[in-house]
Amino acid sequence: MKKKLIGLLAATGLQILLTACSTTPPVYDLLIVDGTIVDGSGAPAYAGDLAIVGDEIVKIGDLNGATAIRVIDASGLTVSPGFIDLHTHADRNIIENHGAENYLHQGVTTLLAGNCGNSPVNLPGYIQTVEETGIALNLGLLIGHNSVRAEVMANDNRLPTALEQAQMESLVEAAMKAGAFGLSTGLIYLPGTYSETGEVIALAKVAAAQGGIYASHIRNEFELLIEAIEEAITIGREANIPVQISHLKVADNTMWGDSVIILGMIEDARAEGLDVTADLYPYTAGSTGLANVFPAWARAGSQEDFQARLDDPETRARIKADTIRKLNGARAAGDLSRITIASFDGHPEYSGMTMAEVTIINGLAPSIENGAEVAMDILYDAKASAIYHMMVEEDVKRIMQAPFTSIASDGSAVTFGEDVPHIRNYGTYPRVLAKYVREEGVLSLEQAIHKMTALPARRIKLGSRGTLAQGMVADISIFDHLTVTDRDDWSSPHQYPTGFEYVIVGGTPVIDNGVQTGAFPGKVLKRGLP
Ligand SMILES: [Zn+2]
Repeated sequence: MKKKLIGLLAATGLQILLTACSTTPPVYDLLIVDGTIVDGSGAPAYAGDLAIVGDEIVKIGDLNGATAIRVIDASGLTVSPGFIDLHTHADRNIIENHGAENYLHQGVTTLLAGNCGNSPVNLPGYIQTVEETGIALNLGLLIGHNSVRAEVMANDNRLPTALEQAQMESLVEAAMKAGAFGLSTGLIYLPGTYSETGEVIALAKVAAAQGGIYASHIRNEFELLIEAIEEAITIGREANIPVQISHLKVADNTMWGDSVIILGMIEDARAEGLDVTADLYPYTAGSTGLANVFPAWARAGSQEDFQARLDDPETRARIKADTIRKLNGARAAGDLSRITIASFDGHPEYSGMTMAEVTIINGLAPSIENGAEVAMDILYDAKASAIYHMMVEEDVKRIMQAPFTSIASDGSAVTFGEDVPHIRNYGTYPRVLAKYVREEGVLSLEQAIHKMTALPARRIKLGSRGTLAQGMVADISIFDHLTVTDRDDWSSPHQYPTGFEYVIVGGTPVIDNGVQTGAFPGKVLKRGLP
């Protein structure tokens, strides 16, 4: 009884103290005043202030007269949630480039990595290394089918045995229990391309049981695009798992315009009750390994196996025929200048050249047939990545306008100045805001921000990120929507966009007055945790 009374007195005392304090303005850690708030929900922008204590947004509204340790004057600027990029490969290089400058300068505060079937397999070990290194923004992970399959079956072109299937399932389960947000596939890439749908359904069921999503670089983005979308939807239905179709695109010249068909298929699936969504990058060019101009069967097994096939005249002729077919179709639409080398080990001088130019400096006229010949020669014992100009604006815009698509980069934490990578690594988000919102009106500012924040947050159930509201984590981007610009320069991609004045991760500025602060407040996010 006595204890209770003391408790009651203490509570009353606290009440009195709070009442007394309420006549003087509270002191916050950070105040962002006079900005135009676009809260991520898709609701109209409004003028307002925002107060932060620690890593949390504690108040939004008219905070006139409030005081704080730091005040950011956001007049003339847009204040939005930090951008959440569901499709990255940052697991490849976030440890070396833990500042992720190329993302911070775009207003991105959270990356989901491990896409297209490629991820670390031992998630606890990887997460520990990232946490020990420290990161500037938040990172979540998917577990990749290709990586799991390679761990169990190497690069074999066959179906798994029952034992191998069980081993893959237990690797997926372990990764999910370590906090992965779901399973990713890259069914167009090795070795995932050697799988059949049933293998993937069984793995997706394991991810589904843990509350994960299925994020897929589908089996074909070219002439078999429709069949590949069907497969992704089937996997969602059979495994009862939310489906995220990665970087949705129409990449075959014979199918340009068919975004109408594939968006209709996704709408039908959604109407059926399936949870199918997608993401896209705002470009008509993609980027992946140059060896993807070869047929997958030619690249099964080891590098020596590949070389042996090239050394055998009959097999080489078959590889060449299939490569010509791919160059005439999806990969180059019959024009080698549609392919640009992004990086080439052993031949750094190739970086930035088109495949037509590489063919010429190898002594041949730039026909498709010669391009296939040169590709087989130069990739015999080398690795390269390339940029493929293979889409059209009409499809990009139509996909962007679908209500279920998020903006994503398909980039990684690139090293500034190294190679000639796809400009999406630096420009994805500012490009949407500049070109597709401000210049062309494809989206409203509120719609675009929604596709960069709340929509992707909801997809992976990040309950405390993606909108600006009281109680949410203070991941915030502050930019000038009238001047924000990407540097649309393919030959010189290592340029930061302009317009992002402040980027805040968990209440800590990582970009301050346009300059990186060197703070590393980012966290490794885990499924199911706030
Ligand atoms: Zn991909």
